[in-house]
Amino acid sequence: MSSKGDNVAVCNMKLERLLSMKGGKGQDSYANNSQAQAMHARSMLHLLEETLDNVHLNSSASPPPFTAVDLGCSSGANTVHIIDFIVKHISKRFDVAGIDPPEFTAFFSDLPSNDFNTLFQLLPPLVSNSCMEECLAADGNRSYFVAGVPGSFYRRLFPARTIDFFHSAFSLHWLSQVPESVTDRRSAAYNRGRVFIHGAGEKTATAYKRQFQADLAEFLRARAAEVKRGGAMFLVCLGRTSVDPTDQGGAGLLFGTHFQDAWDDLVREGLVAAEKRDGFNIPVYAPSLIDFKEVVEANGSFAIEKLVVYKGGSPLVVSEPDDASEVGRAFASSCRSVAGVLVEAHIGEELSNELFSRVERRATSHAKDVLVNLQFFHIVASLSFT
Ligand code: SAH
Repeated sequence: MSSKGDNVAVCNMKLERLLSMKGGKGQDSYANNSQAQAMHARSMLHLLEETLDNVHLNSSASPPPFTAVDLGCSSGANTVHIIDFIVKHISKRFDVAGIDPPEFTAFFSDLPSNDFNTLFQLLPPLVSNSCMEECLAADGNRSYFVAGVPGSFYRRLFPARTIDFFHSAFSLHWLSQVPESVTDRRSAAYNRGRVFIHGAGEKTATAYKRQFQADLAEFLRARAAEVKRGGAMFLVCLGRTSVDPTDQGGAGLLFGTHFQDAWDDLVREGLVAAEKRDGFNIPVYAPSLIDFKEVVEANGSFAIEKLVVYKGGSPLVVSEPDDASEVGRAFASSCRSVAGVLVEAHIGEELSNELFSRVERRATSHAKDVLVNLQFFHIVASLSFT
């Protein structure tokens, strides 16, 4: 790909063919930048447990396998830990109920460009059936069968009534696409001068909100067909506490401040044309509780067991909080691990390097503010299907 601002061959591929977190295990990879998500997930395990306690256990003589799915699994270790936790918790419930546990199958699902190879290499070895029970208790072994399932969770992924439990963490805030009106220069929703909806105009924000709600509706429709009766879902995505969608909270700080300013730097320095910048938009929407709830209620297939906004904390993991350059680096790596693939598709790798070095510089000079104010909130939904 060329690296000259507006001459770059733009990837007009649909987002779902393109989007992935940065694969592999390098400095900016998702695998290496998801410890904060791991911490946030850990702080919500009691809510996950509550949801797992709602799942119906099949006590028939030769039950089908218990099937659990992680949607938006990405390529880090978090998904493996979560699936492990789910299998152990459900096995324990079978034990306590005095029912022989069935076999377990786990599906790891994400978009086709996800680095499934890196993920599969993180899986512990499968233990044979004969020692399945012993190994459920032991760490470092896998007591379930696995498969990777490529595809968008906004469509059907599994046969009807085959899944006992769906889990999805930190994924549903990714839209299926940037709304067309947002990149259409003739539209009132055109996001002129900005690369995210944080601080954008009301019409732009409304287009994003509509897209989020339409996507979530498709997600619920697909899952309602796939989940077994008595099954459940545990969903966590970025959320916001403000009613105003142009205040995207933590996501707003990540994509709407130093990242935005770095794009503006490239424009000012003549490296990227203003229109080229305006054609780039982060396809993320952090919903409010109401945004989310409206869709679940309109869908009507799931009972809401719990729906809350939960404080996650900072997405940055830094060992020396007083070291401004470490904070700046962590901010830039965190940003690049999730948005880097999209940026590179839009302006090429060389300009992407330029962009993220400016992100790092700017975040370094605002390190204190970044550490204190970059806080994520999540929407946590526990839904059951009867
Ligand atoms: N659940 C993991 C990873 C979250 S990163 C964890 O807890 O660490 C978000 C993931 O959602 C990415 O891997 C991204 O590719 C995936 N994703 C985004 N949109 C998606 C879609 N429409 N269908 C499936 N996966 C999607």
